[in-house]
Amino acid sequence: MTKRVYNFYPGPATLPLPALEKAKEELLNFMDTGMSILEISHRSKEYDELHNEAIANVRGLMNVPDDYKILWLQGGASTQFWQVPFNLQIDGKPMEYVNTGGWSKKAIKEAKYYGEVKVVASSEEDTFKYIPKDISFSDDAAFAHITGNNTLYGTEYQTWPKTAEDVPLVCDMSSNLMDQVIDVKDFGVIYAGAQKNLGPAGVTLLIIREDLIDRASEDSPTLFKWRTEVAKNSLFHTPPSFAIYISKLAMDYLKELGGVSAIEKINREKAKLLYDAIDESDGFYRGHARADSRSLMNVTFTLESDELETKMVAEGAKRDLVGLKGHRSIGGMRASIYNAMPLDGVKKLAEFMKEFREENQ
Ligand SMILES: *Cc1c(COP(=O)(O)O)cnc(C)c1O
Repeated sequence: MTKRVYNFYPGPATLPLPALEKAKEELLNFMDTGMSILEISHRSKEYDELHNEAIANVRGLMNVPDDYKILWLQGGASTQFWQVPFNLQIDGKPMEYVNTGGWSKKAIKEAKYYGEVKVVASSEEDTFKYIPKDISFSDDAAFAHITGNNTLYGTEYQTWPKTAEDVPLVCDMSSNLMDQVIDVKDFGVIYAGAQKNLGPAGVTLLIIREDLIDRASEDSPTLFKWRTEVAKNSLFHTPPSFAIYISKLAMDYLKELGGVSAIEKINREKAKLLYDAIDESDGFYRGHARADSRSLMNVTFTLESDELETKMVAEGAKRDLVGLKGHRSIGGMRASIYNAMPLDGVKKLAEFMKEFREENQ
């Protein structure tokens, strides 16, 4: 058997094993073409079928209404940090953001190139330990932007802020896409780099309400405008076909598991195992996120000293629990437990946390 470990890295991140096995099986001969998916034309009927199935998977799993378009783009979520304001900005109206961590800050920075930005709420003064409550966006904002899950700090929205009817809510869901059931109608635009909770690096998923694709001025570079790719079903130019293919296989597996509501249940069980291990540790493990803002996807905590954390990372790796070191900006430990992380991996980590504490407390 091939060696496999439990991979707690934040992204690129673990993928469902059945999806990888399927990719391996068809790597040399995709859909009986005698060619690999890596070699086949993006204009072939086989690719076209796969491309549309990937879109249908997103639509089905997230119950995306008909008046929303689904796009596969390149450039990562970071490209959307400028593409969102570029496409949604309206002269004379503020663009409003909530600052819940490093990714929000990067998005805010890019929006400033396009006009007035208002940060309406922030948790920066308390090292981003929580999601601000009672967020209030202006009625005249061009759009309102939030980061659904803060991969670095381990916080996640538990309810979505409201906006006025004609103020679209835009959400960066790079690290929590499909982690729980949501109502897409609450959002104007959802975007997500695939490499955390959907598939491999190299593709970004966008879900855009139809009325929002026409705001960008015509007099601008072709690929800046979302509507260029909307008009061509994300085939205006060569799409990142392999990344879309793997994402499609990962979604096939998610469907087999019972879809987003089924994975939400498992995700809640997984997160509870680790938060319980923190809460029951008498302060040995110190959770970074406030209990009312805890992420289902990234569990962050610190230990008493850097030495102890280094030791824990090393001992974890010996047990095939890898990638537990926290982000360099806050240090500490982080377990990323995306949809593809099996319950068994989290059980093993929770046991390890208990044993490590008993040995080192
Ligand atoms: C990782 C991450 C990004 C950056 O994604 P890229 O695809 O690398 O640009 C943006 N937002 C969030 C919430 C992330 O976790």
